Amino acid sequence: MGDFPELTDIHAHPAMNAFLWDRDLRRHYWTGRGFNPLASLTDFKMLEKGGVKVLWSSLHVPEANLFEGCWLLRLAAHCTSGGRKLLKLSAWECLLVMMSKMERQVARADRFQMARSNAELDQVLATGNTAIIHTVEGGHVLSAGLDENDAPGHIARLKQLAEGGVSSLTVSHLFPNHLAGHAEAIPKEQRSYPTCTMDAGVELSRGLTPTGRAVVEAMVELRMVPDVTHCTPVARQEVYALVANRIPMIASHIGVQSMNPEPYNLDWADVQAIAASGGVVGVIFMPYWLEKPSPGPGLDAIWKTMDTVREWSGGTWEHVAIGTDFDGFTDPADDCKSEAELPRITEMLERKGVSTKDAQAVLGGNARRVLRDGWR
Ligand SMILES: [Zn+2]
Repeated sequence: MGDFPELTDIHAHPAMNAFLWDRDLRRHYWTGRGFNPLASLTDFKMLEKGGVKVLWSSLHVPEANLFEGCWLLRLAAHCTSGGRKLLKLSAWECLLVMMSKMERQVARADRFQMARSNAELDQVLATGNTAIIHTVEGGHVLSAGLDENDAPGHIARLKQLAEGGVSSLTVSHLFPNHLAGHAEAIPKEQRSYPTCTMDAGVELSRGLTPTGRAVVEAMVELRMVPDVTHCTPVARQEVYALVANRIPMIASHIGVQSMNPEPYNLDWADVQAIAASGGVVGVIFMPYWLEKPSPGPGLDAIWKTMDTVREWSGGTWEHVAIGTDFDGFTDPADDCKSEAELPRITEMLERKGVSTKDAQAVLGGNARRVLRDGWR
């Protein structure tokens, strides 16, 4: 692949491992098999092994609803310092703790650096180091303790995040929030544990709220890339209409409805809208979302999803990216199950006859463009 410098994953969760389990990200603990929340798929060792040079590191504070619905999780949370913080602090306070914790982890690691703007990203890549970029998953963090209609309060927090270098925000997540409707994203088997009643409160007719509209508008002004993953199909369309291509929009970890018709996944019109904005679709590395039956191997489904996004965006590879969701409480593909195995995607694209230029776009060039056009 010549001197292509920037294998990029636009959605993964090392920060959650650091926060919840007090992991030292310089160490690899274990890879695990299947769905294993304790696995360590995105630590710095795994990133180096896979040659990943840019990681959009998702800061996600698990919603309080998870603990309300499940006494076992509540009990488990008491056993770790991160879990105790979740029970004690607000989601907003937890986010700030997680963010600074992640920055400390990066600061003490050799060959890793935070990038808080495009200029910093260029500098980091020029040194040959790996760049870590903050993103935030779930708009609920903006709302903690605020009235649903307090748009200025939400926007003040968003501004603080933008100034801290956060490049992107998923407006919705697993449970109802003050910003937008969410699609079901808790896999069926995890909703039916005997110890838990996991009703995610999905209302597919719900779009953006007035506060959600104000937040998305502020993202355009602050240069933070809107991520429509987890939104209802209705909310996604409202985001596209509101942003009106002033800034690239993304779906960072997702599949397509032609292969798996879940509301979570994108349809043709979604991909058209994201492509028109200059954005990207990050293909998730979790067979559950890509194609039934699952779990199991996923490389084939990853390829088919990438190729569908290519076809739906006018036959160009410019809107395809990698958004693994590793370490996000996901069950990864058995045949590509950690950052260390991402070179398999490079090999796969080559094997399928994708040109070097197009492959480099998928592996990182497209994501770089989105940041240049949509970030500070
Ligand atoms: Zn997610």
